[in-house]
Amino acid sequence: MRSKLIVGNWKMNGSRAANAALLEGIAAGIDGVQSAIAVCVPAPYLQQCEDTLKGSTIAWGAQDVSAYEGGAYTGEVCAKMLCDFACRYVIVGHSERRAYHGESSELVAKKALAAMKEGLTPIVCVGETLEQREAGQTFDVVGAQLGAVLAQLPPAAVEKIVVAYEPVWAIGTGKTATPEMAQEVHARLRAQLQARAGEAADSVAILYGGSMKPDNARELLARPDIDGGLIGGAALKAQDFLAIIHAA
Ligand code: PGA
Repeated sequence: MRSKLIVGNWKMNGSRAANAALLEGIAAGIDGVQSAIAVCVPAPYLQQCEDTLKGSTIAWGAQDVSAYEGGAYTGEVCAKMLCDFACRYVIVGHSERRAYHGESSELVAKKALAAMKEGLTPIVCVGETLEQREAGQTFDVVGAQLGAVLAQLPPAAVEKIVVAYEPVWAIGTGKTATPEMAQEVHARLRAQLQARAGEAADSVAILYGGSMKPDNARELLARPDIDGGLIGGAALKAQDFLAIIHAA
């Protein structure tokens, strides 16, 4: 039985004051919660997360990591630096990075590997555009995106990743994949993980992301292969994020 994992992806939002209120609000509402909880925040706020969340059951992480270990890469942040702030997770291959920063699946695979080398858990994002879905290419697209990462990992390492299925057309749009649509893709991703890693794939968390909200979370999270959520907009209000946590 996989336990649920609910991750907030704050994207480029927040301020010291707003973060303090949000983190306190979340921490105050999770008594008795069984699911694992994490927030992935802009890098400048990792110290604030460490200071505020140390000793709590809420983990934290970053939204991107360099594929390189360090050195002359202006503007990059490497995995070792994230570990310096006690991060547990790092998102890699979010569709916004693939689209706006030209990240290829090969680069995403390198980032996942760089993160794992330092003991971080990469949250590997995959997802199709509306055009690709309408052309019947969903499984080909997400299969290739995940495959690029799996090809770099020894089978024994596969159980250490988290996968997030985020249909691009559902991110920030208010359009959510139906639970059936999401479950269908999650089951395919699970089969792909199994083909690479056997039974170990059963323990890999596959999150759904894309306009997950308090009013649709319960139905999505009830599906057998939907092991949690990667939450954008609804992770910025403690009340909404908590409602999703309690739906899991
Ligand atoms: P959303 O974002 O919940 O605002 O759709 C999810 C994500 O991009 O991770």
